[in-house]
Amino acid sequence: MTDVPETRTEPGRESAVVLADRRAVDALRAVLGRDRALFEPCLAVGTSEPRRAGAQRERLAPRAAGAESERSASLPLADEPEWRHVSGHEPFAWEASAPLTGVKRFFFPAREVLLRWQVDAMGDAVDDPSVGAEAAAAPSRALPPRPDTIEETLPDPAPFALFGVRPCDLAAIAYQDRFFATDLWYQRRRARALLVGINCLRACPGGFCRDVGAGPFARAGFDLDLTPLAGGRVVVEIGSARGRAALASAGLIAEPAGPGAEPGAGAPHARDRAASGPDAPAGAVDAGTHAAFAVAAARAVASFPARAEIGRAIARINAERGAERVGDIEWQRLGPSCFTCTGCTNLCPTCSCFTVADERRDGSGERVRYWDSCLLAGFQREASGHHPAPHPSDRVRRFWYHKLARDFVADGGRLGCVGCGRCDVTCPGSIGALRVLTTLGSRS
Ligand code: SF4
Ligand code: SF4
Repeated sequence: MTDVPETRTEPGRESAVVLADRRAVDALRAVLGRDRALFEPCLAVGTSEPRRAGAQRERLAPRAAGAESERSASLPLADEPEWRHVSGHEPFAWEASAPLTGVKRFFFPAREVLLRWQVDAMGDAVDDPSVGAEAAAAPSRALPPRPDTIEETLPDPAPFALFGVRPCDLAAIAYQDRFFATDLWYQRRRARALLVGINCLRACPGGFCRDVGAGPFARAGFDLDLTPLAGGRVVVEIGSARGRAALASAGLIAEPAGPGAEPGAGAPHARDRAASGPDAPAGAVDAGTHAAFAVAAARAVASFPARAEIGRAIARINAERGAERVGDIEWQRLGPSCFTCTGCTNLCPTCSCFTVADERRDGSGERVRYWDSCLLAGFQREASGHHPAPHPSDRVRRFWYHKLARDFVADGGRLGCVGCGRCDVTCPGSIGALRVLTTLGSRS
């Protein structure tokens, strides 16, 4: 589903493509680490094993059996890359795959305080002459909170950069941007983020981004996007004015002008620094480099497995009726394999279910938002007691429809699954996306 990318030319977008080398990219990272909080996927010391489906299940098995071993002692994810705050002077992990924990927590944290209030103002022990004797005599009647007792908790993060975001995660961020379009807490964080993507030249184990149109090359959603070429060269695509300003700060392009240039964005222009690598003049990509870029992209895309069964499975999930449609019995076979551990929904970069709870403490309270999961029985239970998805198979079906039904594309701008494969790695019941799609697509 993904084509070889072309140089971006959409109206209204930054569309330049710049040639750099790895030293120039390091210069950019150093500047970002100076001007922003910089986060990168870092490999754990001793990383040796590629990610694969079921790895988490295998890691958990010795501990579940009570065995003490070096392997179980390193639980849960010691050999996975992880997003870490770095200075920008460390070597960049060009080969690191997308961290299992993803980037959604940077914008949509697992627990977030939405507001704080004073308990007295909620009517428990009101001592307010404006309330009136009748209301004061009826403390069980909740009174509306007074505005001056509610503390706003909108986040005000310092500017930060996520450097090395893979195309699947860029697609997931764009998907969540739409879901949280009017969510002030999400948008406050999102507005301070600079996203530097890195395209994938070889498939990661268990990923199927190509089959769902999320990779291996990013289409949009980045401020800057890197494609490493042979000989240490790196093509840098500019996706926004903010990305252009970051490049200018590092001296890789001329200082940007016009709207979007960030005030005080950093170092003075130093174009010659970009040419520090003998093969890496800064500036627009010449025809030869663009050809090398196109060839690298075409090779990368061709090297990614294209699985016909995934296309068939998606078609079956979207079939309106008839024998092609996934039948109840198939969902019922999958349902008992879900242990409702919520590992998939926690790791899934497009999952956005949450619940809100009011937590009271001494003299005050907080309204808190937590990640929730549609696979939990309580998530959809209605106040009347009715449950629209009472059985695990109903919830598993609902989850996969939400990920892969085209009905939701109008809202999310794409399918709800970006093919990152995280659910396959974590699911103890072996019903992650690749397993489910392979199963459904192999039947007809
Ligand atoms: S599908 Fe798998 S990972 Fe997701 S909640 Fe069920 S058991 Fe856990
Ligand atoms: S459903 Fe699974 S493969 Fe798809 S985006 Fe979520 S975690 Fe990744």
